[in-house]
Amino acid sequence: MESFDACKNSVNPAVLNEDVYLLDCVFCDSRLCERGLKSFLIADEKVELFSTDQVDRGLVELTDDRFRTDRCFCQIQDIACLQCGNVVGYHVSMPCRPCLESQNNGHFWMFYRHSIIPHQRVNSNGTATMIWGDFMHEKEDHLCEAWSECER
Ligand SMILES: [Zn+2]
Ligand SMILES: [Zn+2]
Repeated sequence: MESFDACKNSVNPAVLNEDVYLLDCVFCDSRLCERGLKSFLIADEKVELFSTDQVDRGLVELTDDRFRTDRCFCQIQDIACLQCGNVVGYHVSMPCRPCLESQNNGHFWMFYRHSIIPHQRVNSNGTATMIWGDFMHEKEDHLCEAWSECER
């Protein structure tokens, strides 16, 4: 973690062994995310979250309000479930420096633990729990077809 840019663009190798979760909305059961990782709030490690590096804009939407919490200087926006409109997490649209420097998985999309139902995802063969590193080996379109079979 020597430089600002290195933090933003590199993936911490530890993340590659993390389990991947499918995240459903607790309010309406809609799928919100297919590549969630168990995470925690950088400013407060007692707060459990799920994070991801990218979201499907057909599943969630950003609200227009930009705000800061009293924890740090990150500029954040709420993420709402597209189906029911409930706020399910937030997007760090402009990370503050301390967070960027301690951010280790490059994920700026966070889902509140109480707003989602996590399901552990299995790999495309259905043989094992999927880990983040599997994304590095498999094609994304293949995964999109595969997940519905692996849902249970
Ligand atoms: Zn911050
Ligand atoms: Zn919902």
